[in-house]
Amino acid sequence: MTNTETVRCSRCGKDVTYHYHPVNHGKQLLLSVVTLGLWLPVWLCQAFCPTKLCDQCNGPIW
Ligand SMILES: [Zn+2]
Repeated sequence: MTNTETVRCSRCGKDVTYHYHPVNHGKQLLLSVVTLGLWLPVWLCQAFCPTKLCDQCNGPIW
C-alpha cells in the first residue's frame, strides 16, 4: 500500500512517499478482551487515524 503522494519526513528531512502501519485486528481484539476493554480506544485510534510511515526510513510521520 504505497502512495504517490508525498509528505515531509522530519527524520529524512525531505519529501517522501509513505505507507500506513498495518493494523492486526485479530491481535487488537485479543488485547481488548485481555485488558477488559481498556485497549479499545487504542485500537479505534489505530483504525481511524493510522500512523503514516516513511518509505525511506520507516519512521513514523506526525
Ligand atoms: Zn524518513
